[in-house]
Amino acid sequence: MENCIFCKIVRGEIPAKIIYEDDDVIAFNDINPAAPIHFLIIPRIHITSLLDCEKTHQALLGRMLLLAPEIAKEQGCTDGFRTIINTGRVGGQEVFHLHIHIIGGKNRLPGMIHKT
Ligand code: 5GP
Ligand code: ZN
Repeated sequence: MENCIFCKIVRGEIPAKIIYEDDDVIAFNDINPAAPIHFLIIPRIHITSLLDCEKTHQALLGRMLLLAPEIAKEQGCTDGFRTIINTGRVGGQEVFHLHIHIIGGKNRLPGMIHKT
């Protein structure tokens, strides 16, 4: 995907603080962190969102989810963290390349969605 910002990070065309990479997945710090630790895990291949995932992505998705606690611990999330996948317009997705947010730090995170 030519103009996808996360594809550009995968290709090394724009800089990012990459904290993990392998053949299928990379993880890098969020440019606008919501907490002391905030990084994103993305597939190297362009998948627009969770709505676009298919059975063929099952192993990749499992791999990304299992990497979350592994990298989180390395980054200092020793006492838990929050995992978020925003999907589509209603989910508040802003970058349309599938990513898992991992958010943590020392203190308990605030509630995510306020019921009215
Ligand atoms: P979304 O709302 O799509 O789930 O989250 C997109 C996230 O990507 C946001 O937290 C935003 O700060 C982050 N982001 C957007 N552009 C860049 C960028 O160029 N580099 C990095 N490292 N993060 C970005
Ligand atoms: Zn992309």
